[in-house]
Amino acid sequence: MSFALWNVDSPAELPDSDLEIQKINVLASFYPIEEFTKKVGKDKVNVSLLVNPGAEPHDWEPQVKDLQRIQETDLIIINGLGFETWIDDVAEINSDVNVIDTSNGIDPIYIESDYRLQISAKSKELTTDPHIWLNPITIKTQVQNIADALIEFDPQNKIYYQNNADAYKLELDSMDKKIRNELAQCSKKDFFAFHDAFSYFAQEYGLNQHTVLKSIDPLSEPSPQDIQEVIDLARILNANVIFTEEGVNPKMSQVIADEIGSKVLMLSPLEFGDEDGTFMERMDNNLINLKDALCN
Ligand SMILES: [Zn+2]
Repeated sequence: MSFALWNVDSPAELPDSDLEIQKINVLASFYPIEEFTKKVGKDKVNVSLLVNPGAEPHDWEPQVKDLQRIQETDLIIINGLGFETWIDDVAEINSDVNVIDTSNGIDPIYIESDYRLQISAKSKELTTDPHIWLNPITIKTQVQNIADALIEFDPQNKIYYQNNADAYKLELDSMDKKIRNELAQCSKKDFFAFHDAFSYFAQEYGLNQHTVLKSIDPLSEPSPQDIQEVIDLARILNANVIFTEEGVNPKMSQVIADEIGSKVLMLSPLEFGDEDGTFMERMDNNLINLKDALCN
């Protein structure tokens, strides 16, 4: 009703477009960062994804058109901890770009930079595990870092951004409690994720993560020997679920599951934005499937 009156009374004025002008333009590096930024910025922020929703963010590199978008945006918000391998080059080319690193204040988990390289070259190089967006507790820090950045850019709306951040942090606290309570009923602690994405989650909830791929990159290829090692370990640990994830060949997990008579379920690293369900619903789904793996 009021919308109709509005159109009749002021056809030449478009208050919506005035609002658009005042909005902060943000580029989010990939899906979880887009999600968290929308929760904090709500209708005062225009959030666009840098990586296409269906693209694998681990191996993404900006193209010329992306560099133009980066140049034109108010803020670019990244996960950090080395996930956006391209960010230093982009910041060097364009010194005006305002980069917000959401990992500030989070204690990193260090991993061997390349498992295979480690074996062949005996390299002892360590790198940081970037998968902080899978643990509700580390997400809370990311959310506050986003709020702080929006407040610094737009201090007039400080209370608005902080209230939104606080409300989302309460949702994350509820999710944390739910995970803690439900997993406490399970006797098993070991699970087989697809790629090495759940270290922060496993550390938070006292679990042991094993992986089909010995890599933080879901697109690496396992050798037959790697697969045999996973089969042997899964058999020893009596695993009744081997997880797969979006965007990979489910056969890799199926081969292992068939060998030990277990089943394949989805444990999403929440790296793609074009799947069904909200971020929280997908986290909830992960919990249901994890319970299947740990409680049976
Ligand atoms: Zn990953």
